[in-house]
Amino acid sequence: MDLTPPLETCPALVLNADFRPLSYFPLSLWSWQDSVKAVFLERVNIVSFYEHVVRSPSFEMRLPSVIALKEYVPSARRPAFTRFNVFLRDRFSCQYCNTPFPTHELTFDHVIPRSKGGRTTWTNVVTACSDCNLVKGNHLPRDCDMHPLTAPYQPSAFQLQENGRAFPPGFLHESWRDFLYWDSELEAS
Ligand SMILES: [Zn+2]
Repeated sequence: MDLTPPLETCPALVLNADFRPLSYFPLSLWSWQDSVKAVFLERVNIVSFYEHVVRSPSFEMRLPSVIALKEYVPSARRPAFTRFNVFLRDRFSCQYCNTPFPTHELTFDHVIPRSKGGRTTWTNVVTACSDCNLVKGNHLPRDCDMHPLTAPYQPSAFQLQENGRAFPPGFLHESWRDFLYWDSELEAS
């Protein structure tokens, strides 16, 4: 019986040149094809391997499980204003009832409603569950006594990275563990 996992489940964890993941959430993973290509283009160093070997007539190599970019990529100083990043800033929790929800059950709320001149910006949009969103409706916070737990703000890339660390993906190859979730592992032991 062949116990080696199929190739599609052999992505490589991609680290920046400082050996921190390029991104925690979503975790920076490249397909084995992209990883092998980057190795041949000499853009990355291989840090760790899978047992898997890929062969062609002219070469064979063990698949990389962790690679590190040779050149440091600075992260964008101002993260993009997207629904996902708003949810990530607010840790996927409704800012009114302080309850975490899966992404598809979350909406976002304009603290100052659009009907009252509120803009769709980092500093006026918060994560909300649909129940709270419905109750708040077109009210100003003081009119319905609903105030977001944290006043909405423009997060830095670092803050979003840190929040992302709290959400490990379902699958972690053992060779990735040295580069991930150091503090949560320490707390668990
Ligand atoms: Zn809520």
